[in-house]
Amino acid sequence: MDYLGVVLLVAAVATAFVVIARSNAWQGRRARAEHESQLALAKRAAEADVIGLAETLARLSPAAETDPQAQDDYVRATQAHARAARYLQEATEPGELSLVTESLEEGRWTAARLAARAAGEPLPSRRPPCFFNPGHGPSARNIHWDGRSVPACSADAARVETGADPYIRTVVRDDRRVPYWEGGPTYAGWASGYYASWRGSTLVADIVTSNA
Ligand SMILES: [Zn+2]
Repeated sequence: MDYLGVVLLVAAVATAFVVIARSNAWQGRRARAEHESQLALAKRAAEADVIGLAETLARLSPAAETDPQAQDDYVRATQAHARAARYLQEATEPGELSLVTESLEEGRWTAARLAARAAGEPLPSRRPPCFFNPGHGPSARNIHWDGRSVPACSADAARVETGADPYIRTVVRDDRRVPYWEGGPTYAGWASGYYASWRGSTLVADIVTSNA
């Protein structure tokens, strides 16, 4: 090969490397952008629930002022809320949002106890969150829906039992709104954290299957 041939060959090889490097960089940037957008979607769902618990606690705070046991519940619920808010801020992967919703479930249940104390009602036993929207808080009972047994809040249980549609939580997937259990891996951590205390429980057996 003459001198010109060597120069041309080197130039061709160098060009190929530049093209490959650019392509890898572009793919890396695209993967990072996709990761950021999925994380943002999952965080948006979790943030709505963190705000929802804060609003519930603001409504219940007067009830905590007189009764020492209610005060204990209030402190526990606000601590759970603070943990959820911190985990939300720190999350760098959608899967880490299970820590947020696990704390929210504890906060929601404690807030339900506080509400029962304020209303002079019997304290509720700890039950899994409403299947239709875990942000509704603890379920009141299991109902039969769409061929399975699911935990439902009293409002959704009443809707289903009178033939109406439950208020199903929807999330964004591929620019469409779908029920959260069809939201795919982006929302798996967010949803599973809510039911972390009930792994293996028959109360949520169908839900665990549907999130797999
Ligand atoms: Zn509900």
